[in-house]
Amino acid sequence: MNPKRKAIWDKSNGHCWYCGEVLKNGWHVDHFLPVNRVAGDVMNPERDEFDNLVPSCPSCNIMKSNMGIETFRWLIGNFVTRLNRDVTIYRHAKRYGLIKETGKEVEFWFEKETNDESK
Ligand SMILES: [Zn+2]
Repeated sequence: MNPKRKAIWDKSNGHCWYCGEVLKNGWHVDHFLPVNRVAGDVMNPERDEFDNLVPSCPSCNIMKSNMGIETFRWLIGNFVTRLNRDVTIYRHAKRYGLIKETGKEVEFWFEKETNDESK
């Protein structure tokens, strides 16, 4: 692993900044505050620097896309609503007691596990 990538990995000791999964080969580097690209050019280059880079699993990075953290939280929090609305087998599984909804708020790994020095 190159030194810059290793330093980003070390921010979470190898966990996804968002979901907390242990990172596997192919993990992504995410811009915590999103960068906006137009035709490949970064429109807010002040965000393209080390302090704004965090380790992420590919699925969280792709899902977060260019969202800020509160929009990303809203998106994930809305998944249960969408499952109930859109997925018949989810509703059946719930009726049979196979799924129990918790009503929990979305809390990201970095909110649970990091201190101010680790980012
Ligand atoms: Zn993740």
